[in-house]
Amino acid sequence: MSAAADWRRQLREAWRSPDALRRDRFPRMQVTPGMREAALRFRMAVTPHYASLVRVPDFSDPIFAQCVPSQDELRAAPFASPDPLGEVRSMPVPRLVRRYPDRAVLLASSSCACYCRHCFRKRVSGVPEPSASDAELAAVARWLGANPEVDDVLVSGGDPLLMPDTRVRAVIDALSSVSSVRVIRVGSRLPATLPQRFTPALVRILAAPARRGGPAVYLMSHFNHPRELAPEALRALRALVDAGVPVCNQTVLLRGVNDSADTLEALFRALYHARVRPYYLFQTDLAEGIEHLRTPLATGLALMRELRARLSGPAIPNFCLDPPGGGGKIELSPESVVRRGRGETLLRNGRGELFLYPDPQDAARRFGSERADTADSTDTSGASRQ
Ligand SMILES: *Cc1c(COP(=O)(O)O)cnc(C)c1O
Repeated sequence: MSAAADWRRQLREAWRSPDALRRDRFPRMQVTPGMREAALRFRMAVTPHYASLVRVPDFSDPIFAQCVPSQDELRAAPFASPDPLGEVRSMPVPRLVRRYPDRAVLLASSSCACYCRHCFRKRVSGVPEPSASDAELAAVARWLGANPEVDDVLVSGGDPLLMPDTRVRAVIDALSSVSSVRVIRVGSRLPATLPQRFTPALVRILAAPARRGGPAVYLMSHFNHPRELAPEALRALRALVDAGVPVCNQTVLLRGVNDSADTLEALFRALYHARVRPYYLFQTDLAEGIEHLRTPLATGLALMRELRARLSGPAIPNFCLDPPGGGGKIELSPESVVRRGRGETLLRNGRGELFLYPDPQDAARRFGSERADTADSTDTSGASRQ
């Protein structure tokens, strides 16, 4: 079978209801009316590859919990919204979301191979809708040409790489045709859910622009659990990196799936070994139908503190959240700054030990504007009383 036939067969054979998954794959799986209703409300698909990573067909399994609809998705969530990041309000041209001066997101398609139960873009993904047309891509390219301060375009969706090779090439070509676009980041969950998609032909399409002196193309993968790094996934990652496509990974922190230091350590270590840079660890967004997977912020902060002690620097991602309503990502770090005082800062290292760090002697004079910041914080002389 050709490589292309292999990924298309995975899609054709994907299970699209809990009952179909039980009938063909997991006869001992329990299906409740709530699961059927959740699958109607938020679309379901599970590829044979992703199903093969399940060990126990119930919600205690981190793979099963990410792809099989749970009745918890129907629970009312007081803070949840269909568009938690307010993306609809920041679209200067159809399909393009812009929230930073120099970066924009292109929503190229709405389909995925597997529908993540934790998706924050459930308003888009799984809604059957055509992917970006030539006319839409031309309008996006025109807008980018008129706004050259945007030099980095993130291609997202849905999953842009689920489109046929010709459409992936059309997106890459449209963006590469704008001389001010220097980076194209392609966000895809397929390395985890459909690694067969990374055929030599697709890898060539992604590697082509940089070889011609055009924009750098990065692949932004989405692995959440070490078990997703199956041999097929590792082969896909190796093909990309060997071809000169750098891969960065975004992980979503999910309750009961990966909210333990051991799991995240194993995931980030394995990615690092595979030449993939762990880039972001995201706090789960306030989207509809995913509240049961959200952790308290304190969990993520405690995990980051623990990971700092266990992993090499390049293997540690930034812990971020997208504030409700938009406004751009906010980076969260376990607090190393305990207190800022006049001319000095009280710091805490990973083991909880305290240190006083002095500013340069003339800092107050040279950086007069920092005085406001200094004035409303407590004096660090309290340090000795701790
Ligand atoms: C996340 C995001 C980006 C990219 O942010 P980085 O921090 O550069 O990865 C750009 N635009 C929007 C709307 C985003 O949500």
